[in-house]
Amino acid sequence: MNAHAPIPNPNCEKPVLRERGQHEVFCGLTGIVWLHRKIQDAFFLIVGSRTCAHLMQSAAGVMIFAEPRFATAIIEERDLAGMADMHDELDRVVTQLLARRPDIKMLFLVGSCPSEVIKLDLSRAAERLSQRTLPRTRVLAYSGSGIETTFTQGEDACLAALVPLMPADQDSSLLVVGTLADIIEDQFRSLFQAIGIDRVTFLPPRRAGELPGIGPKTQILLAQPFLGDTLKALEARGATRIDAPFPLGAEGSELWFRAAAKAFGIDHQKVTAAIAAPLERARLALSRHRERLTGKRIFFFPDSQLEIPLARFLSRELGMVPVEVGTPYLHRQVHAADLALLPDTQISEGQDVDRQLARCRAAKPDLTVCGLGLANPLEAEGLATKWSIELVFSPIHGFEQAGDLAELFARPLARAEKLRV
Ligand code: SF4
Repeated sequence: MNAHAPIPNPNCEKPVLRERGQHEVFCGLTGIVWLHRKIQDAFFLIVGSRTCAHLMQSAAGVMIFAEPRFATAIIEERDLAGMADMHDELDRVVTQLLARRPDIKMLFLVGSCPSEVIKLDLSRAAERLSQRTLPRTRVLAYSGSGIETTFTQGEDACLAALVPLMPADQDSSLLVVGTLADIIEDQFRSLFQAIGIDRVTFLPPRRAGELPGIGPKTQILLAQPFLGDTLKALEARGATRIDAPFPLGAEGSELWFRAAAKAFGIDHQKVTAAIAAPLERARLALSRHRERLTGKRIFFFPDSQLEIPLARFLSRELGMVPVEVGTPYLHRQVHAADLALLPDTQISEGQDVDRQLARCRAAKPDLTVCGLGLANPLEAEGLATKWSIELVFSPIHGFEQAGDLAELFARPLARAEKLRV
């Protein structure tokens, strides 16, 4: 319930229910919504169908830009006649776009799952286009396809595509990996400085030209749990991962900073002094929500891959009771520190949506965290829900956001209570 709660044995292997049935998730294109906000001179050109264009419009439709930074090149059926035509068409669209938008420094061609797009070799197309557009604009490719993926994997694929471009760096540094809102990045940077870690870089960067360096003395601290491919690519370049829970909540953030400090040989007391004030603010902010949340039972459908760290935060810091914690994929090493802190509960990996819905209905949780597609039917059945996608769109990391994160779970419960009155 607080930072002094006992830490269970990290070596205990928690049993996991594995399911491989029909699953209900958004595709990786969704990541463009937060990635285009982060890399401010990048453009995301989806190579896809009308469905992809509609998905992006509805996912990001609430945002209004003077100059949008994503679009869809719709591959029509007529294009099936010949691959050469499709490449010509793509070249034409890219040339037009870059002529009109000289501010674009990095252009991502984002693949999708219609069969005609899968047949296109977008990586080769990106290389070919880069030869024409460099040094002004670098063209890269990754897949946001919805086949066998979940929506946060779009960010993983995008960041993994950036790794080969990162310059070699032989000096010691800390690399924080995973998209964070700029305000959180600034908070983290100044806290790391106060702790005594001076060389701190972030992936993705805010600008295409600011890719951080990487080498054998780079230590990686993941800010998001869904970056398995990116991690693998970074490790292949010699970097090592620091094992830590994710920085959600007061305790999660404290352990995250402490793990980084330990890896850099920094004294425990120095960290205690540096984080004392934000840690106290976070605990105070959480205390305001504890009464509403303590003892409430929560069920996680697998969606964002944030489920395990969120369940750890809600159970240990707010006294919620996780009934089932579903995750699309369970990367045991990446989640080890959070798993060790999770109370005994049903962990499930993958999905068989009908079976899981049956378990959820039988459990009658106070709150269900799920994708948009399941939320409305469950609400209609009288269950309070929280959209998991909102947890990825909202700034939730770090000490200063701990209260806001708790509020995201308290709000639907308050609404459900009002509706019952
Ligand atoms: S990539 Fe596939 S799943 Fe995603 S919107 Fe396009 S067609 Fe649908």
